Amino acid sequence: MEPDGGRRVASVAVQAFLEAIQSGASGEEIAAIPLPDTYRAALVRKEDAGMFEGIASGDKDPRKSIRVEQVPVPELAPDEAYVAVMAAAINFNTVWTSIFEPLPTFGFLSRLGRESRWGARHDLPYHVVGSDASGVVIRVGSAVRNWKPGDRVTIHCNHVDDQDPTAHDDSMLAANQRIWGFETNFGGLADLALVKANQLMPKPAHLSWEEAACNALTNSTSYRMLVSPNGADMKQGDIVLIWGASGGLGGYAVQYVLNGGGIPVGVVSSADKVKLLQEMGCEHVIDRKANGYKFWSDEHTQDESEWRRFGKDIRALVGEDPNIVFEHPGRQTMGASVFVCARGGMVITCAATSGYMIEYDNRHLWMKLKSIKSSHFANYAEAWDANRLIAMGKIQPILSAVYPLEETGEAAWQIHKNLHEGKLGVLCLAPQEGLGIDDPDFRAKVGEDKITLFQRHGA
Ligand code: NAP
Repeated sequence: MEPDGGRRVASVAVQAFLEAIQSGASGEEIAAIPLPDTYRAALVRKEDAGMFEGIASGDKDPRKSIRVEQVPVPELAPDEAYVAVMAAAINFNTVWTSIFEPLPTFGFLSRLGRESRWGARHDLPYHVVGSDASGVVIRVGSAVRNWKPGDRVTIHCNHVDDQDPTAHDDSMLAANQRIWGFETNFGGLADLALVKANQLMPKPAHLSWEEAACNALTNSTSYRMLVSPNGADMKQGDIVLIWGASGGLGGYAVQYVLNGGGIPVGVVSSADKVKLLQEMGCEHVIDRKANGYKFWSDEHTQDESEWRRFGKDIRALVGEDPNIVFEHPGRQTMGASVFVCARGGMVITCAATSGYMIEYDNRHLWMKLKSIKSSHFANYAEAWDANRLIAMGKIQPILSAVYPLEETGEAAWQIHKNLHEGKLGVLCLAPQEGLGIDDPDFRAKVGEDKITLFQRHGA
């Protein structure tokens, strides 16, 4: 395959790794392949940061700002690995980066750049995006002990300096904790990724590259929010209200609640999504669009009667108020989330898609001893446990559609406009879908229908 102006296909040098991976080359053989000088990557450029000025948020178009270009391969630090990326996935953070909201991510890169010699590599006039990937380790730094060339991996996005003491209780509390591919450069939407060795996890053997690539960020986030003692620590019998229940976070949240003996109440915005959730085994679903909730009567005023109507609809379904509210839409829903949460219950929040200046009626919080707890991604142990559940076939990937790397902007647009379900995958080096399944017997045991539920639904 010839590079087409350096843009359309993996460069010849990177292609050698693909050929080796596909022909089953050993780790030693992979390690002997010369590294390329450049690689193909989806990125945004600093000079474009003002391109959407005066345009409404919803109309800012990632297809205009995300480019696919050849970039130089960065130097490898002793605690890092290069991964030949077979597939990646889009996360909402790539939407934020591509519309330069709430701030251009170049500020993150320059802050990292001031930290150390190694940090300085990240401070560039372009930002290679992407916080999820699957692939094969092709080189490791001199201090890497647990991984070697040839290892098939998925990558989680918690980027911490493990020589800092603050990283050694819960690494999400580390002073220099960052999200790889969002607050760092050299992310996963590319043919090659630069990661810390402590971001690597074994690739679930029964999944294709793209099915393996789509999980780590949102699956681990939902795990921490619901299962981990760092989050809501859900128990059997808990009723859990899940906003965006067929979205990137929600699709895993529903599975965790069902697996843990809880009762999910999923909120979605179409009849089609209601059907999808029911196929997942989520019996109680609310179609927010069909019900026409208007929690805000105007830009500044919330309508308590609408919160009440929503709460009544939940009670009509499950007979009680939710013990846990899985919250991420933010401004549009937070008032309602606090209101409908049960006495003594918890609203666990990790985001604010519809706006981060939040308003709720504090009387409903304190008088009924509710709490709001924040959560952000997951530490390595949590991400590892969440990945283990995928590898055990107990949590399924929620991949619905796959795009080539050149169409990263289109995939980000689909997510920005809420036109998708579950996760959108991106093929990087993998030439087609369905490759990389190393354990077809276990796949059959888990069940093709379960693994591909979102893909079949989206087809
Ligand atoms: P997603 O795939 O777009 O799913 C979000 C779902 O939320 C949508 O499918 C939509 O479902 C629902 N939604 C959107 N706007 C809404 C609104 N105004 N009111 C009610 N529901 C709304 O995104 P995601 O991957 O789940 O991520 C969701 C948010 O969490 C993003 O802001 C993302 O940046 C953030 N996030 C944070 C972390 C973290 O570690 N802190 C990790 C992952 C994601 P319906 O239209 O069907 O209702």
